[in-house]
Order: sequence, then C-alpha cells, then structure tokens
Amino acid sequence: MPDRSVHFQAVIRWVRKETRDTSTYALRIADSAIRKSYTFKPGQFNMLYLPGYGEAAISISSGSADHDLLHTVRVAGDVTTALSILREGDSIGMRGPFGRGWPMEETRSRDLMVIAGGAGIAPLRPVIRHVYKNKRSCPGSDVILYGAKTPKDVIYRNEFPRYRGVFQVLLTVDRADPEEYWKWERGLVTHLLDKASFDPLSTVVFVCGPEIMMQAAIRELMLRGVPAEKIFLSMERNMNCGMGICGHCFFGPKFVCRDGPVFAFTEVEEFMGIKEI
Ligand SMILES: Cc1cc2nc3c(=O)[nH]c(=O)nc-3n(C[C@H](O)[C@H](O)[C@H](O)COP(=O)(O)OP(=O)(O)OC[C@H]3O[C@@H](n4cnc5c(N)ncnc54)[C@H](O)[C@@H]3O)c2cc1C
Repeated sequence: MPDRSVHFQAVIRWVRKETRDTSTYALRIADSAIRKSYTFKPGQFNMLYLPGYGEAAISISSGSADHDLLHTVRVAGDVTTALSILREGDSIGMRGPFGRGWPMEETRSRDLMVIAGGAGIAPLRPVIRHVYKNKRSCPGSDVILYGAKTPKDVIYRNEFPRYRGVFQVLLTVDRADPEEYWKWERGLVTHLLDKASFDPLSTVVFVCGPEIMMQAAIRELMLRGVPAEKIFLSMERNMNCGMGICGHCFFGPKFVCRDGPVFAFTEVEEFMGIKEI
C-alpha cells in the first residue's frame, strides 16, 4: 500500500457531470507500482490535493472490482471549485485510502437496506456495486432508498433502473416542477420506508446523508423494529490529516477519519444531534 502521509499523482481519465454542482472523476494512479498495490474497501475515502488550494476528503465511489477509480465531488469551497475546472488529462495529488468502511461482512447473512440523501449516495455506491455484481440468490430482498432535492439533483440517475431486479429501488425528490419528468416518488426519503418491503429483524441498514436526515431515518427504522446495532452510518466532519493525528475531525472521543467515517449507530448515538461536537 502507498505511504498515506505522502501525495501521489493521479491523472483524470474522464469527467461525467452528474448534476449542476456535482461531477464524477475517473482517476488513474500515475505510478504503476502504487497503482498495483492500491486497494480500498467500500466506504473509505481519499484526500484529493490541488497545489495552492489544499486537500479535501472525498469518498471512493467505485466498486473495488471496477476498472476505474471514481470520486463524485460536489462543489463546496476552495479545493472542489478548483477541481471542477480540471479536465481529462489533468493531474491531481492523492493520499489514501483512509478510514473504516462499511461492514460488508454483515451483508452476507442479512438483507441490505441502503438509505442515502443527496451526495450521501457517493460512499454507498461501492456497496451497491458490490451487491449488484455478486447477485444474490434471493433478488429483491435488498433495498435502495434515495432522496434528492429535485430531479436535477439526482446523482447516478441513469444507473438506478439497472439496479432494479437485484434491488428494490425507491427514489424520491423533495419537489419536482409540474413540467419536469419524474416518475418516482415525492416527499422525504424516510417516507419511502412505508413503500419498501423488508424484514426489520433480518436487515442491516447503511445510511449516509445530511445528519438531520440520518437522525430521522434511524428513528423511523427503530420504530419499525430494526435493531440499533444493525444500523450503520457514515459521518462527515472537516478533516485535515486523515490519519487520526491532528484532531480536526473529533466526534465526541472518536476521530471520524480513523475510527470512521462509518460507525455503528450504537457507537455514536450519544453524540448525534449535539451541535459542534
Ligand atoms: C469522510 C468524508 C467523505 C467525504 N466524501 C465526499 C464526497 O464523496 N464528495 C464530496 O463532494 N464531498 C465529500 N466530503 C465533503 C468534503 O470533504 C468537503 O465538502 C470539503 O470541505 C470540500 O473542500 P473544499 O476545499 O472544496 O471546501 P471548503 O473550502 O473546505 O469549504 C467547506 C464548507 O465551507 C463553506 N465555504 C467555503 N468557502 C466559503 C465562503 N467563502 N463563504 C462561506 N462559506 C464558505 C462551503 O460552503 C462548505 O460548506 C467528504 C467529507 C468527509 C469527511
């Protein structure tokens, strides 16, 4: 594995615009020895580096068996704005992979429910890709619930129809203009729980999105009987080193970069919803 305190170069192979402010970048690690030794787990992230701008933590959004190393980036500030003007053939710096990913072993013996809001679908895409590629004996028992603000904000919009048949796929938007084509649901992502068919006692749930959405989803899941210890979530905090040294990303006593970003709900429930923690 590469030394994670040192940047290595990656070349942009292609860029796909997902929404007005979000694009997916396919990266190729330039050094062949690093490329061959580089592996990651679903839910891990890289630090992407642009000289003169700095670094940003960005989840890996490709599956571990996929050909391209993908990152889906929403323009938020300095680094992501600078990244948004780069094109195919440009180089960026990268360190990683970092963090503890999703507990994929849980998906072997249990049905999987993925709940994502907005850009929270990016770190869950490797999970979806994994389950999709290793098709189950019982198709349709795994569920994807995804919510975005409007139809224009749906990331990976062309991929969802493909996942049907393996997953129950339910999409929703907060609002859609009457003239906009939208054949899925309207309303909060948590409302989709009423439309999904799942057994709370044999399902493991992976959740990622705005914290308020994750809190609401977890509340609804527990009301429906999903055990707290079978709910996992990916947290986002400003981070600097990515390696559990600088303390920028403290969440209670935990480092989001090193102990997370994926946590069991039971590990973090006492800190959730507390501002500035
Ligand atoms: C584990 C992890 C995984 C992540 N995965 C992804 C991912 O897959 N995709 C993704 O897009 N993001 C992801 N993020 C979030 C991403 O790291 C942050 O958005 C990061 O801060 C972007 O860096 P930046 O330099 O572009 O923005 P920053 O400059 O750090 O800005 C971040 C925040 O400050 C605000 N801000 C910046 N400049 C100004 C200003 N002048 N005035 C007012 N407000 C301002 C921005 O609106 C934004 O809310 C992840 C974060 C973590 C911790």
